[in-house]
Amino acid sequence: MTDILSKLAALTTKDKNGLLPCAVCGHPNEVDGIKPTIESNRRRVVCTHCGLTTIWCDSADHAIETANTRPRESALIALVQEAPKQIEVLQDSETHFRVAYETSTKEIDRLRGCLGLFASVIKSGEPWTEICQREYDKALNPTEAA
Ligand SMILES: [Zn+2]
Repeated sequence: MTDILSKLAALTTKDKNGLLPCAVCGHPNEVDGIKPTIESNRRRVVCTHCGLTTIWCDSADHAIETANTRPRESALIALVQEAPKQIEVLQDSETHFRVAYETSTKEIDRLRGCLGLFASVIKSGEPWTEICQREYDKALNPTEAA
């Protein structure tokens, strides 16, 4: 999935010839030099995807300028229409990460409890007893002990 900002950047980034992508579909344009009339060197820009074509121009630069100055509303409107779906995907991801974060935080707290118990037994110098084991099991599985 390409995000909207990447698509917007692609729509507004010129190629090596200084040519913007197609104003309608956003696919790469090409300067059509294949079929100039015999006695002229006229050029036009053609979209390789949807076939949108400029008028014949007296130079490649003029054809590029003609293509680049076309209104790009339809491609931009398509991006805007896509935005709510992408926002929904991002919100789902945010929810997913929040749940994962909360789960990992609980896991860290549980492990801290176990380590705290080990540390207190070691510091006290007393042997590991059944009470210690019960406390350890409670720290390891706090929901089962409750
Ligand atoms: Zn096109």
